[in-house]
Amino acid sequence: MAAIKKEDLPKAKLNKESLGKATRIFRFIGPHKWKFFIGMVFLVGTGSTGLIFPKLMGNLMGLIGKTSASNEELLHVANTVGIQLLILFAFQAVFSFFRVVLFVNVTENMLASLRQATYDRLIRMPMSFFSSRQVSELNSRVSADISQIQDTFTTSIAEFIRQSMILIGGIGIICFTSWRLALVMLAIIPVLAIFAVFFGRKIRKISKGIQDNVADSNIIVGETLQGIANVKAFTNEKYENERYKNTTLEIVKEAIKGGIARGSFFSFIIFCLGGGIVYLIYYVVKMKIDGDIQPEEMMSFLFYTVMVAASIGGLPEQYAQIQRAVGATERVFDLLDEEVEDIRLTPNPSPKGEGGDSRQPAVRFNGEVEFQNISFSYPSRKDFQVLKNISFSAKKGETIAIVGPSGSGKSTMTNLILRFYNPDSGKIIIDGKNALDYSLTELRSQMAIVPQDVLLFGGSIKENIAYGKSGATLEEIKDAARKANALDFIESFPEKFETKVGERGIQLSGGQRQRIAIARAVLKNPSILLLDEATSSLDSESERLVQEALDKLMEGRTSFVIAHRLSTIRKADKIIVIDKGQVKESGTHEELIAITDGLYRSLSKLQFELN
Ligand code: ADP
Repeated sequence: MAAIKKEDLPKAKLNKESLGKATRIFRFIGPHKWKFFIGMVFLVGTGSTGLIFPKLMGNLMGLIGKTSASNEELLHVANTVGIQLLILFAFQAVFSFFRVVLFVNVTENMLASLRQATYDRLIRMPMSFFSSRQVSELNSRVSADISQIQDTFTTSIAEFIRQSMILIGGIGIICFTSWRLALVMLAIIPVLAIFAVFFGRKIRKISKGIQDNVADSNIIVGETLQGIANVKAFTNEKYENERYKNTTLEIVKEAIKGGIARGSFFSFIIFCLGGGIVYLIYYVVKMKIDGDIQPEEMMSFLFYTVMVAASIGGLPEQYAQIQRAVGATERVFDLLDEEVEDIRLTPNPSPKGEGGDSRQPAVRFNGEVEFQNISFSYPSRKDFQVLKNISFSAKKGETIAIVGPSGSGKSTMTNLILRFYNPDSGKIIIDGKNALDYSLTELRSQMAIVPQDVLLFGGSIKENIAYGKSGATLEEIKDAARKANALDFIESFPEKFETKVGERGIQLSGGQRQRIAIARAVLKNPSILLLDEATSSLDSESERLVQEALDKLMEGRTSFVIAHRLSTIRKADKIIVIDKGQVKESGTHEELIAITDGLYRSLSKLQFELN
């Protein structure tokens, strides 16, 4: 997925409401507020000293055309003004330095708090939030939004304020020098500058269109080359050629349009802008000849005009940046306002009064689980009922196998036990109490899951196992690995428990990853265990090692086992056969195999024949 670029972020309308919302961001500045205000003072300092510059430059350059004074006098004035200019730049240098340093400091601190707050929210969102969104898109969006806010706070706001000061101040000073000149200038420069900005925008739009077309044509090349076997097998070369030809022709059409726009833009700039400036200079020179203004006033005026024109040219972009940042802030806050699960992040107080692990339960569950008439549909697909009136019960320490065709709702049942989702009707009773009456942290701290696809985090094997219990000692981790049949392979690596895994480290096989996940579960020591097709994708040797480890892990815990290979669940205390979200049969292997036209019996037979 392509990352979202900042330039593509939608702009928000700037009104009282959106600005009001955006000012919430100032709360994240927290104790750094004073730096922001001092930064502002420096910014005003840079802006106002900037306004003195054209005046002094005019005084200096105006000396060139001065004939009324002696050379000595002229030299004296030149020296004085030169020194004044140097002092001015020294002030500007100091102001700019502190302004930049302070703004960056405030922004980075603010962004860190904002990033932490967003991540804290994201990680506590309910599963329904994630299943209804493209997670990678969300990630890319949030980082684009935050980086937009960053740019705006470090640069755009400052630039906007500085250029506004120059614009207003510059026009004010010009009016003060000569209102006639000011009128002529205002009639020409802003009109031309605004025209140029709009023209520039149009050109940018066209070139974006070209870029999109180029991207489309690249997609065709990528797709067809990747699926070249299909193209050839279906003899679709001609069709693909046509498709590609059409998009390349589109590119040509757009590019020619862009060329015409760019050409016109250049002609416009050369003729109109040039013409306007010539007229302005002509007018000023005429005033000078008529004796209406002094040479230094004339030069200052020209410098002020250049500065005002540059500000007019720059302001729309800064304004657009601020608009984008307001939009970005709104989106970030929308995310922060989403409802989260009641996950406790603070640790349980340990008996000694020190901070403990929030995931280690205060009281241990027995692990009795009962489904009472559970019906459920996913929030994103309300019209499709996944589970229909499911009831069963599991006593402490029992193994319950859940079998059924793919898509029948097996994983959904484990999702409900973990309370990733809540049932639409019916109750899940755990140790005699409705699951809804436990806090999520309390409930989930009693459970462990060994999924089919084990996700290992970048880090060492040791860290990955310790994910089951923070603060576990190396001895505990080793012991867990031993119980999970993982010690041998871990110790065969040169760096043993410190071996890095994941994207930047060693790639473990499916069976090895499973055993790491089992070691995690051993460390967590849950009373309820959920095994989701844990051995279905393994070869028989890995399966034996994993199964052995699982058998040990399941001892004394209530376990729910989703299994495709029915041979692995013969010993289960109860097998629940579900089909299309309903319980079809339940009982032990012997009971179910005895049902002549039962679903379990036919599934078993099918597997037996396949094997
Ligand atoms: P099984 O584990 O038996 O293969 P699942 O419990 O994964 O079946 O899925 C049962 C049904 O629920 C399927 O039709 C599936 O498409 C649907 N389903 C699973 N997860 C979601 C989800 N997050 N959102 C919407 N529908 C889902």
